[in-house]
Amino acid sequence: MKIRVEGTPKKSRETYMMAYREANREKIKAYSKVYSKVYYKVNCEKTKARSKAYRKANNEKVKGYRERMRDLELLIIAQRWEDDVPRCRADLTPGLKETAACSTKLQIDHMNGGGRQEGYRRQQGVVNGTRELDDLRILCELHQQAYAILRGDTNGGSDSRDWAL
Ligand SMILES: [Zn+2]
Repeated sequence: MKIRVEGTPKKSRETYMMAYREANREKIKAYSKVYSKVYYKVNCEKTKARSKAYRKANNEKVKGYRERMRDLELLIIAQRWEDDVPRCRADLTPGLKETAACSTKLQIDHMNGGGRQEGYRRQQGVVNGTRELDDLRILCELHQQAYAILRGDTNGGSDSRDWAL
């Protein structure tokens, strides 16, 4: 991206930048996606150390942010299934609801399994709207386990570490 700004008066420079950004929105998005990946690769240790230090210094803030992200993710998935508030949707699988009474702890269920590989990226995708929601639903902890047993798949979500943030 070459942008000639030298010697341009401040106001028109800003206008120009804004127009440029507006006109090249997709290009910039693609570029920064690649750039941040490359940057991370090259500066991996530095980035890791820096974010570790940040988390340490801002423990409460980070915790609060994660909780908000988590709440938001639950809310977005709940709304996909036309719920105003997150609740266990064991009823989406015939016979599952009857296996147990709901527990209070809510988790996100990948209906097709495979939650292990996705982790935090899923949350980001849900919150920023780039992740499909059709294979996600909310289950309580008990129904999550019952569902894993029901389909004979212990990779799909019975391990609570898969869901810890
Ligand atoms: Zn339940």
